[in-house]
Amino acid sequence: RVAPGPYSRVLLKISGEALMGNLAYGIDPEMVDRVAGEIESVNALGIEVCLVIGGGNIFRGMSAAASGMERTTGDYMGMLATVMNSLAMQSALEKRGIPTRVLSALPIAAVCEPYIRRRAIRHMEKGRVVIFASGTGNPFFTTDTAAALRASEMGCKALLKATKVDGVYDADPMKVKDANRYDRLTYMDVLRHDLKVMDASAISLARENGIPILVFSIHNNGAFADVVQGKGRFTIIT
Ligand code: UDP
Repeated sequence: RVAPGPYSRVLLKISGEALMGNLAYGIDPEMVDRVAGEIESVNALGIEVCLVIGGGNIFRGMSAAASGMERTTGDYMGMLATVMNSLAMQSALEKRGIPTRVLSALPIAAVCEPYIRRRAIRHMEKGRVVIFASGTGNPFFTTDTAAALRASEMGCKALLKATKVDGVYDADPMKVKDANRYDRLTYMDVLRHDLKVMDASAISLARENGIPILVFSIHNNGAFADVVQGKGRFTIIT
């Protein structure tokens, strides 16, 4: 199979909150299945797909630290939360008949494979979806940074950041009625104006490795497949 367009291998970053759907906490199976459907469409195009999933729907290190827990302990709990989300996504993908492997930066041998770069690449070459769990495996990082890191390691042609809205705006479009959407930005624009897309270490890593970041809405049906083919609404950061 030959992938259409320039993005033959991509990494999709989904926040934990995206899997929450309309729930106040945790995992909404309907939402996980919807996202799995989006991934299935892209996989069917012959594009190699890997994923980084956040953990914010279950646990965040920062909020644990705020309530008195040691920051690093909270961060490890946050990383473990990403493992749960990754297993939920693996299950939804495999229900659709898509072979999927979860590779964890923190070794959890009884549950999933450890992260080994060459093994991850091999899985993708075989058409399997690879889910990178446990973020970077280090406290004080985020899953956004993990996404930029894994996209760099895997030689991905693009990093797709799924959000609630269809791109990057000059103000929060959920709050400001006439906020303007950008079609195109540079990494430096994002850093200089502190635009809330991904954290600065993720942006810097993508910049150093020349990986374009495409920001799009996961709530629009078919958006993932459109965006990887350069169609539909998104903001591209280069
Ligand atoms: N985390 C971490 N190191 C990493 C990735 C994640 O310590 O490399 C922890 C951190 O505490 C973070 C939590 O895991 O708050 C969940 O990840 P994140 O907040 O990035 O999830 P998202 O906002 O995408 O749902």
